[in-house]
Amino acid sequence: MNDSRDIWQFVDAKQEPLIALSDRVWAMPELCYAETRSAAEHAAELERQGFRITRNVAGIPTAMIGEAGEDGPVIAILGEYDALPGLSQEAGIAEPRPLENGGNGHGCGHNLLGAGAMLAAVAVKDWLARNGLKGRVRYYGCPAEEGGAAKAFMVRAGAFGDVDAAISWHPASFCEVMPAVSLANTRIDFTFHGRASHAAASPHLGRSALDAVELMSVGVNYMREHMPGDARVHYALLETGGIAPNVVQARAKVRYSVRARDLAGMHELVERVKRVAQGAALMTETRVEPQIISAVSNLLANDPLERAMHDVLQQLGPPPFDMADRKFARAIQDTLTDQDIDSVYRTVGEPRGDAPLCDKIIPLDAPRNLMRGSTDVGDVSWAVPTVQAHGAMMAIGTPLHSWQVVAQGKMPAAHKGMVHVAKVMAATACKLLTDQALRDAAKADHAARTARHPYHCPIPADVAPPLDMARV
Ligand SMILES: [Zn+2]
Repeated sequence: MNDSRDIWQFVDAKQEPLIALSDRVWAMPELCYAETRSAAEHAAELERQGFRITRNVAGIPTAMIGEAGEDGPVIAILGEYDALPGLSQEAGIAEPRPLENGGNGHGCGHNLLGAGAMLAAVAVKDWLARNGLKGRVRYYGCPAEEGGAAKAFMVRAGAFGDVDAAISWHPASFCEVMPAVSLANTRIDFTFHGRASHAAASPHLGRSALDAVELMSVGVNYMREHMPGDARVHYALLETGGIAPNVVQARAKVRYSVRARDLAGMHELVERVKRVAQGAALMTETRVEPQIISAVSNLLANDPLERAMHDVLQQLGPPPFDMADRKFARAIQDTLTDQDIDSVYRTVGEPRGDAPLCDKIIPLDAPRNLMRGSTDVGDVSWAVPTVQAHGAMMAIGTPLHSWQVVAQGKMPAAHKGMVHVAKVMAATACKLLTDQALRDAAKADHAARTARHPYHCPIPADVAPPLDMARV
């Protein structure tokens, strides 16, 4: 299938209910593994669109799969719907104004990510039915991308076992095939156990778990100089041992996120961080318990799929933004720093321009200066050939995890960007469904890469999805 215009009509025909889904999810921002209402909205829409639904995938109440079509190849389209804490923000204004102080907000645009992926799946379903073709399309409703690694648990549970290829996207400033570069990441909690005591009357009897947490930070901070340049270690204090300075803190807990270029590098670094924790326990005469919470793999590229998706992008061109979209995007850009904007241009290898919204397709071989985060799509990409798009829907330079993303998340430009990227994903899926040679090439590429580095799920077998994560 060289011409994608046919499938794009199916996307256009179903855009309204899916834009409405995105806006509803925007208005009910829920954190990882607590996306109960958002997941219910997704399941209800899948049902209305005639998908067969499997709930509670991998034992996760907010994970689901909707399937349509019969026999043939199976194409997975992945969506997300979790929000972030502290990013509550009104839509449509270019200044920080929370709807609810300290409330959640869709600061990574996952309201669009989920609904856009479902729009692609719905269009492919309708296209298969209209053309009487064999083949199945599945929408994977994947919760807890923000640190919960739900997709890695879904891969571990075998949810992708019969899938031929997977497609997803992420909201961004520019349209491009997403470079398959991300860091493997483990989240690991260290709980230190000491001994409480009166901090003035009997300090010699106490052993401080809080001291251990602080010494562990010092040790890790010294370790940073001696890590690979692209590795990252961050931490957050979960329990400090109470609010009373006159009680020696008997228990304290710190969460570490340890990232490296690949799983082998990550496992090595995790062992070093564990040894630092042991050192802190030794110095303070406390005891430490490490507990892995979640982990994700780095992304695996797939050349044939990336070329196929890029062809679609070139045929489609950039999203049809208008003057009003550009005016609001310009107002958002006025709230950004020059560094914010420069850094986004560098990630796509483009010289700084002055368009407020994307007006081009970034070439596959652009000389990018990549920003390296982590994503649980990584594990899907090790299980099956996977490709992702960056869909342009926000003012160029908008940093992810910011109030500016929330402010733009249900504006007309966001809706246009979502429909546009749904066309990219749907047309890529249709190519895969009808082109055996493309499927074979994608599988051969995947087999060659995984033969060099066999995949082992980075989450230990006895670690269950951290369903209470949002309540920590
Ligand atoms: Zn995200």
